[in-house]
Amino acid sequence: MQPLLEVRDLRTHFELDDGVVKAVDGVSFTVPRGRTLAVVGESGCGKSVTARSILRLVESPARIVGGQVLLHDESGGEPLDLLAAKDKRLREVRWADIAMVFQEPMASLSLVHTIGDQIIEAIRLHENVGKAVAKERAIEMLGRVGIPDPKRRVDSYPFELSGGMRQRAMIAMALSCRPRLLIADEPTTALDVTTQAQILDLLQDLQEEFGMAIMLITHDLGVAAQVADEVAVMYLGEVVEHGPALSVLTAPKHPYTQALVRSVPRLGLRGAGVLKAVRGTVPPPYERPSGCRFHPRCDSFMAGSCDKTKPSRVRSDDIDVACLLYGGEEDQ
Ligand code: SF4
Ligand code: MG
Repeated sequence: MQPLLEVRDLRTHFELDDGVVKAVDGVSFTVPRGRTLAVVGESGCGKSVTARSILRLVESPARIVGGQVLLHDESGGEPLDLLAAKDKRLREVRWADIAMVFQEPMASLSLVHTIGDQIIEAIRLHENVGKAVAKERAIEMLGRVGIPDPKRRVDSYPFELSGGMRQRAMIAMALSCRPRLLIADEPTTALDVTTQAQILDLLQDLQEEFGMAIMLITHDLGVAAQVADEVAVMYLGEVVEHGPALSVLTAPKHPYTQALVRSVPRLGLRGAGVLKAVRGTVPPPYERPSGCRFHPRCDSFMAGSCDKTKPSRVRSDDIDVACLLYGGEEDQ
């Protein structure tokens, strides 16, 4: 089946005085319809910039310098390239087709408007409905995401809610226009383990109910194991492995993914999957190792090839992997 979203060779660079940081450097992946793709990797590997680039939410000095982000419609007609779309068209797509939730909802909620007014505004921006109808929907959504007494809470300001309740309110807002894709960037990272588990369950329930796809950005493999149908692994601005969650998390192909999985003692346990112990560290942003970007940290490093040749992605079993152990040579 055709994917919902297709990211092709996406490149987002930070153009700084000291040089160019290639935060996203030729990223390609697909998001399946109605399913969950988890994008995992250590921090600083370009996950968030990738997510923001999809909706062109990057700001200077970051700049999208290449690629396509194709949003396919139901009928199999011409896809819409979000990177080439007019601003007006893109504004229509935001919320109505693709909504986004961030780690810290305070960053995207207005502090001077009630939760209700913000949801109502989001709905009315995209649908020709009256205020009363939109308010009813807002109350219904707040109830749906587990906010107690939504009739009263609809008139609360963000600062009057706890962190977990704010994140629920943000999800209610994101889903109020029934998007086909929800992009959630570390939506539970700032929350305690219990609230985190509740929010993840909630996202799965809402996915079933509304049939939306979810692209979940997380550095927590335990979270990915719990909710993902597919997993894409990012390292230094590239996707190095992508496949069914079960395969990637239990029989990973790429040495980076193997190290990540090894570093999580009890994979599948909520909150226990925070990445910590891959040998070495992510190199500083201006330094992109030659050949395979992972070679300075790789246990399977082959001198003379891994430091010279950049691997392209090849299919191995049901996984796409970019590593010379599986073939796929590509010149620098
Ligand atoms: Fe390791 Fe070489 Fe594969 Fe890179 S290409 S992951 S250095 S084995
Ligand atoms: Mg991030």
